[in-house]
Amino acid sequence: MFQQIELPYGFDALEPYIDTATMETHYGKHHAAYTKNLNDAVAKAGLEDMEIEKLLGGLDQVEEGYRTAIRNNGGGFYNHNLYFEALSPNAAHAPEGKLLEKINAIYGSLEALKAELTELSLGQFGSGWAWLSADWAGNLFVSKSANQDNPISLGEERIPLLAIDVWEHAYYLKYRNLRADYVKALWNVIDWKKVEERFDAVLNP
Ligand code: MN
Repeated sequence: MFQQIELPYGFDALEPYIDTATMETHYGKHHAAYTKNLNDAVAKAGLEDMEIEKLLGGLDQVEEGYRTAIRNNGGGFYNHNLYFEALSPNAAHAPEGKLLEKINAIYGSLEALKAELTELSLGQFGSGWAWLSADWAGNLFVSKSANQDNPISLGEERIPLLAIDVWEHAYYLKYRNLRADYVKALWNVIDWKKVEERFDAVLNP
């Protein structure tokens, strides 16, 4: 059974950047529905025991009648776990160690990386995500995706480190049509310590 991560903070903990009503709906309704629908789909497809990364990375091996449901709901399940996990009311506003070194080497600075991710977030037409990911050699990549796709389901052979949700359900209650204001606010609650932990896990599998 796939399960949503338990939030290590309350629905109101990310105020004023992410409002309580959005958190309640986003985690309690949207993410819960993706998770339930994924569990239903894998049960029907007989794939209950697969790890989510293997499932999303091997969609071409899933029977065609179940593939779209598993792609969309599996992505919705996985992406939101990553998203909510990296948010914190006590966020570290910068990574340290190897991740910071790598960011500086590739992008010049953390601010420059954040600017690239912001641009991708705003440039995603319609629903989707922006990503910071790593390959197994520890190289970093930024990208965007539509709907609930992610670097794994797109076959990019990269491990997502940070997920930025730009579906309207992530911001519309508070920010209405102003996605840029949401993304700007979101940086205040993105915990780079969590991103760093994920990068360290890639380097030391
Ligand atoms: Mn979402």
